[in-house]
Amino acid sequence: MPSTSRVRVFVDADVLASPVPRTILYLARPLSDYELVHSLFVETDAERHQKAAHIPVSTLRQRWDWQVVPDAESEYISGLTDTDDKDKPVLGAAIAARATFVVTANVRHFGAGDLSAYGLSAVHLPALFVAYRDLFGPPTPDATHRPPAIPFRGVRCIRCARHLEDEQASTTSLCDTCRADVRP
Ligand SMILES: [Zn+2]
Repeated sequence: MPSTSRVRVFVDADVLASPVPRTILYLARPLSDYELVHSLFVETDAERHQKAAHIPVSTLRQRWDWQVVPDAESEYISGLTDTDDKDKPVLGAAIAARATFVVTANVRHFGAGDLSAYGLSAVHLPALFVAYRDLFGPPTPDATHRPPAIPFRGVRCIRCARHLEDEQASTTSLCDTCRADVRP
């Protein structure tokens, strides 16, 4: 089904390779206002990390008609400064695809300067879902997984995708309006 979404979310390899987070993300998509994309570079990287018994991401992509965007061209990669080298092709493709968010298990690999320069946020999956509390209910403390040190970094509010006022906000994932709205 074609997406009517407004907010484009670029899915990193570590999320694509993890069956449960990936399934939650894609099943929730029609209920949200985001569309999901990834590049073939990311898909290849995800398949390298998949367990042998798992269905390859490329098979899932074809089966469910997941949207692929072009890999990053070198101009996008060479323009990046404080993102880990390994993740520059990821962020470069997300920028070229005009994504607002990169959903990833490793927010810390994405540089605050690069995210600010290109107007994106890198978001850990549970943090992205804070934006959809009305669908999923209030967050409950996760006793089984240790939360990441950095669940969010960037300049886009995870709820409304507006630019955050503090351009360097590395941990403030909601704008003032949304923060007031989601307060319990
Ligand atoms: Zn907001």
